[in-house]
Amino acid sequence: MRAIFLGTADGHTSSTREHSGILIQAGESTLLLDCGAAAARFLLHKKFLPDVPEALWLSHMHSDHNGQVSSLIQSLWLRARRAPLHVFGPAEVMRAMKDWLEKCLLFPELIGFPIHWHEVKPGRAINHGPFTFTPFATQHLSSLASYFKRAYPNTCFDCYGVLLEHEGARYIYSADLAHPRELTPALEAGKIKALLCELTHFPERELFREAAKHNVQSIWITHYPDHLVRRDAELKQIAHEEKFRGEVHLMHDKVAQEI
Ligand SMILES: [Zn+2]
Repeated sequence: MRAIFLGTADGHTSSTREHSGILIQAGESTLLLDCGAAAARFLLHKKFLPDVPEALWLSHMHSDHNGQVSSLIQSLWLRARRAPLHVFGPAEVMRAMKDWLEKCLLFPELIGFPIHWHEVKPGRAINHGPFTFTPFATQHLSSLASYFKRAYPNTCFDCYGVLLEHEGARYIYSADLAHPRELTPALEAGKIKALLCELTHFPERELFREAAKHNVQSIWITHYPDHLVRRDAELKQIAHEEKFRGEVHLMHDKVAQEI
């Protein structure tokens, strides 16, 4: 499986890196994990057909994870896509995005390809093509929800990461976390070939400490703050101190990796 990290910055604007987005390529199948990076421009530049991506995972409503969705759909429309696009995420995120596309004049009757909205639930596995998605809920927005949910009942405070299975191998996309212990339901599934994880919302060593308790072969760090850029060696040292024995990779924008 190949992963192209379209953007590795966190929610802060970075002058050198884009917001979240990981393009997964597995044989003929393509999956975009979040859409905060300028995916439309990247796909055109790299000469991907307009049928890419086949599926899109939206973890939550922060703009650094979904702010480029309408621009991607507009691009796919104007590039004459015909293949369906399958979008997966929390139910309220699906509703909000569907509504937003209407507000952006991207009507289903206009764009020339169907969008299938798949509302997912934590712990409930969904098969799609060669992939199995098992979502898990994170506490990333729980604190905000405690302050604002009552005043804004129509806003979605869910955030879902995903355990992704493909040809017998397991991968995890963390989405945003409050703490890496929220990865536990996915980490307990068995051997994890690659953990694609954010590193913004908790002390760095907490990630390696949690991962060391499970069978994780590699960690691919994304969604990290500017002050961690080029600090690969320090992160590897922290991982070692926490007895994590897998590989540690600090990812850069637009770099494709076999994971
Ligand atoms: Zn977020």
